[in-house]
Amino acid sequence: MSVSTTFDLLLRGGRVIDPASGIDGIKDVAVRAGKVVTVQADILPTSAKEIVDVSGKIVLPGLIDTHAHVYQYVTGRFGVNADMVGVQSGVTTLVDQGGPSCMTLPGFRHFVAEKALSRTYAFLSAYLVGGLEGHYYPSLYSPDGVDIEATVKAANANRDLVRGIKAHAEIGGFARWGIRVIEMAAEIGRRADLPVYVHFGQLWGLPASGTNGEDVDTILTRVIPLLRSGDVLAHPFTRHPGGFVNREGEVHPVVRAALDRGLRVDVGHGSHFSYRLARKAIAAGIIPTTLGADIHGYNTHVPAPAGTPDEHADDENHPFASQAKFSLVQAMSSMMALGLTLEQVVPMVTSHPAEMLGLSGEIGTLRSGVDADVTVLVEHPGRYILRDNEKTEVIADSLLQPAFCLRAGVRHDATAPILPRAVAA
Ligand SMILES: [Zn+2]
Repeated sequence: MSVSTTFDLLLRGGRVIDPASGIDGIKDVAVRAGKVVTVQADILPTSAKEIVDVSGKIVLPGLIDTHAHVYQYVTGRFGVNADMVGVQSGVTTLVDQGGPSCMTLPGFRHFVAEKALSRTYAFLSAYLVGGLEGHYYPSLYSPDGVDIEATVKAANANRDLVRGIKAHAEIGGFARWGIRVIEMAAEIGRRADLPVYVHFGQLWGLPASGTNGEDVDTILTRVIPLLRSGDVLAHPFTRHPGGFVNREGEVHPVVRAALDRGLRVDVGHGSHFSYRLARKAIAAGIIPTTLGADIHGYNTHVPAPAGTPDEHADDENHPFASQAKFSLVQAMSSMMALGLTLEQVVPMVTSHPAEMLGLSGEIGTLRSGVDADVTVLVEHPGRYILRDNEKTEVIADSLLQPAFCLRAGVRHDATAPILPRAVAA
């Protein structure tokens, strides 16, 4: 590489961590025409038109949020603005989890994916109705509301956008219809050859007839055999019944075996996240593959789109304990407060989600030649108290916050109104 090359932009002197390239050190990132040209130490400053001093900051491949809800206006109060949780929050790539369905995917492409400045993909809902009003009405999610053929067809016709299938394995649905919907979702995943992302943890209330003989602690055990390597178990640390820790307080023994045969774990943090259960599962050696913020209109305070129904009581209707503010970067701090290292957490938002999306080497890396999607974080040292909705508190000895990101070389400052502020205890 000749030093006389002119770069458009040089991010100078930050700690660059790019797990996919095995890079961790003080380096400069050079960008030209929206692409990463090179990452190396001491690039000549005169070689660039613009220099941004990022010394003391952390420079990462553009962050990937594996669990977003950004089908704004179509999913009622649930779907939030893509760029608010995306580039305005230091996140360059979003994966909408189950907002669009085979019936509503064209709208998602036209009104969200093509309009957002953030790179946007979808895990297509296994259900015809997708994520309408945040899956609020359980009766819409029966096996009668699934069309395997149509969903496989929509996925195959939109491979650029659809990178997986979303389904829910939880007691409210099992009590109504048993395991059939999950079998159908698994078949869609197999036939479209896409990963299936399975929500665990109670979502819907029980029917009047009760559990119908279904036991929440058997759901994981029965669903895992239907899943393939690359499929994703989500919300392991939910405080709702049905996560990785059973009612005896033990991590389900099937989880380890599932991970050993290539299933993945996505935190899908959300406001149902339990530090108590996360601590238990992590101590048992369950290290999540990917992170995922799971921010939506029920756990943050954002204005509801005009014309949406009144707010209703809902199990998901619990704002984040920190003034209903959250971000993927705050979820990274959450993991670090549980004892995971920055080096363990960075792959969960970069190289691992790129693998989940079948986009390794294209995103989630700063390899030369890729689109210059770059996230710059500030680490504030200090003592911070993080709280969950069980009122468990954990102490973080530093807090990460996004400063700005580049999306294909274009700078976006971290200005989202839902970003938590760093207030030391
Ligand atoms: Zn979600």
